[in-house]
Amino acid sequence: MSKLGLYVHIPFCQQKCLYCDFSSYARSEHLFDSYTTALCQQIVDQGGMLCKPPVDTVYIGGGTPSVLPVPLLEKILKGLMANFAIQAEAEISMEANPGTVTKEQLIAVKSMGINRLSFGVQSFNDTLLTSLGRIHRTVDSLTAIEYAHTAGFTNISIDLMYGLPGQTSDGFACELEQAAALNTSHISVYGLKLEEGTPLATAYDQGKINLPDEAEEEAMYDCMTDFLPKQGLLRYEISNFARPGQQCRHNLKYWQYQPYLGLGCAAHSFLQGRRISQVTGIEEYSKAMATGSSPVAMQENLTKNESMAEYIFLALRTTQGMGIAEFDQYFNTDFFGHFGKVWDNLHRQQLVATDKQQIWLTEHGMKFGNIVFRSFLPD
Ligand code: SF4
Repeated sequence: MSKLGLYVHIPFCQQKCLYCDFSSYARSEHLFDSYTTALCQQIVDQGGMLCKPPVDTVYIGGGTPSVLPVPLLEKILKGLMANFAIQAEAEISMEANPGTVTKEQLIAVKSMGINRLSFGVQSFNDTLLTSLGRIHRTVDSLTAIEYAHTAGFTNISIDLMYGLPGQTSDGFACELEQAAALNTSHISVYGLKLEEGTPLATAYDQGKINLPDEAEEEAMYDCMTDFLPKQGLLRYEISNFARPGQQCRHNLKYWQYQPYLGLGCAAHSFLQGRRISQVTGIEEYSKAMATGSSPVAMQENLTKNESMAEYIFLALRTTQGMGIAEFDQYFNTDFFGHFGKVWDNLHRQQLVATDKQQIWLTEHGMKFGNIVFRSFLPD
């Protein structure tokens, strides 16, 4: 049976970025202690309820986990170690904002057992960073990565973004070169999505900012998919590139339909075919934990058709794709028998390919993944 992955949500940020609609809050330092207490309570509760299950990945995400003072991070890590059977070879990742880290802090988190860092670099262009409302500048990213190396981290990831206001494909190509030159083990690259209600979306609606046109954005995408593999960073998921053997094992769990437990406000879990999400507010979550009530906001048992669609499109996000025998066995259903028409249609459009053992997205399919994913959804 698959070992469990743990996701731990730290909902604090120093400042809210202009494009962000994640569950994260600025100016909430006064809640650091009470939130950590609540989180540790849930760690004890869930670890006990699941009988200290074996765990091989932990992902501390946010928000910005690196804004939390070291003693509070240590308390959380100790709680996890005491209440879950964290395996010796477990991947333990923490997200960090380059504008919030110090060398001492990274040395401390390394000594707690965190062995992978994911830096939200987003861009190597200070004008673009300013336009996104990021608190850090390029020099902070370079310094943070240097600190991480000094602290002994060998597994370091950076996030980059494309399709930003004022960004050009030539400029993005230079940013990719800068990113690759840092020799990190992993790079994630995401296209900007304007989320309704964010200041950046409002500025766009009001005509105050311009985004690259479709052709320019496609040129950025093509540059990323062409350039990074040549630098030894192989694409293993639509937005993720890694050196051999350094894929993010925690994120692979999401795409491989394996179980994970979310801890903290706004965290999601996938356990025994059930999707569970927790309340998003920090105070609501902390109050629930303090009063012994449930922090769960929603849980749903997926129908078989929903589960099959989800299983397929999560697997198809990866370059490895989906094993047909695994699907048939998991759902006791013949894949080609059930999805024959959908498959033929996608295959005709050269969006998918197969060798009869695996199915995967073609290069073209990776670009237009949403068309493929929609096709498998039940009516
Ligand atoms: S640092 Fe990340 S989570 Fe925090 S506001 Fe910016 S994008 Fe959102």
